Amino acid sequence: MNIDQISFENKTALIRVDFNVPLDDHLEVTDTTRIQAAKDTIIHVLEKGGAVVLMSHLGRPDGQVLDKFSMSYIVDKASDILGVQVQFIAESTGQSVVDKATNLQPGEVLLIENLRFHKEETQGDESFAQELAKLGDIYINDAFGTAHRAHASTTVVAQFFEQKCYGKLMSREIESLNRVLKTPEKPVVAILGGAKVSSKITVIENILEKVDHLILAGGMAYTFIKAQGGSIGDSLVEDDKQELALEILEHARKHNTQIHLPIDSITADAFSEQATRDVAPINAIPDGWMGLDIGPESRSKFADVIKACKTILWNGPAGVFEMEPFSHGTIALGNAVAAATKQGAFSLVGGGDSVSAVKQFGFEDKVSYVSTGGGAMLEMLEGKTLPGIKAIQE
Ligand code: AMP
Repeated sequence: MNIDQISFENKTALIRVDFNVPLDDHLEVTDTTRIQAAKDTIIHVLEKGGAVVLMSHLGRPDGQVLDKFSMSYIVDKASDILGVQVQFIAESTGQSVVDKATNLQPGEVLLIENLRFHKEETQGDESFAQELAKLGDIYINDAFGTAHRAHASTTVVAQFFEQKCYGKLMSREIESLNRVLKTPEKPVVAILGGAKVSSKITVIENILEKVDHLILAGGMAYTFIKAQGGSIGDSLVEDDKQELALEILEHARKHNTQIHLPIDSITADAFSEQATRDVAPINAIPDGWMGLDIGPESRSKFADVIKACKTILWNGPAGVFEMEPFSHGTIALGNAVAAATKQGAFSLVGGGDSVSAVKQFGFEDKVSYVSTGGGAMLEMLEGKTLPGIKAIQE
């Protein structure tokens, strides 16, 4: 069911949001991105004449009631952002919460206490989920970041509702991923970077036959280069994955997927911003040196591939972007993705570090979509059906 097909008039929507925001030492919210991201859905329900009960986790209290993880510290920021005074109750289940939720008037918003103060939340406990289900008439899941977890509030609770749907954020996430994986405009390029091959193998295997070009950058490229007989000096390598790297290359050849590996590297004599640097062919890095970023030839080769594509998926940095001297490869990829997007390509960036890189270097508004769910997005790229998504469809 789509959110636009549901009537919220005089109904209460129980919305699972992701308000797992960072707090500083004074318990002030330091980044409101996730609250902003949930706004569309909440306002939709209110404008359609409904009331809203918001539930989320915050941090990892592991079933204990810990003040520093109380949702009460989110109330002011949430009220500011939504333009509605958010009410708060320091419980997540029980009669007092049910009473408060039942008495909500259209236009009112109630935030309940951190779900993870109860260990039953992460255990996916059915009775706990049933208690939560008493708080609304309609269930909406808008917490894409936890959609890969079969927790009580993200998955189990859905079975107790006849009317349930994704929130607007979650819909956008799913649509963006489908636009890349299921109905892409060709040619399609996936850019995979980051530290290790091992953490991206399932992603590579799942997308290999779906894309026309696969750019492999970052630390993971060195395992491929070494497997092909290159000298990579002291660069990051997973020796036990060399055979797999060769199998991936062979698989790509059979499917006419073009794999692009870096040609050159920015090398350093230590893993440090202060290290002495040089440029070397990626397959001829001297001992005592390590490749920490892609070199200028690779940047221009990758940019050409990216700019010729109509659909772009980007996960993982091209180098150790946290250190300025090794950030230029990642910035070059960002520039190419931004240029392609300007020419009409659809670009999706997601998964942990690439999102921070995109934000840090100011590309956020120059790509088509930045995914909010690192782990959830990676699992979708791996071809898995996320429990939080399945629960809404059932
Ligand atoms: P991941 O979480 O797998 O996406 O990896 C991201 C991390 O990979 C970042 O912290 C980068 O610093 C790191 N990384 C990227 N390229 C390299 C490289 N050539 N050598 C070592 N670490 C790298």
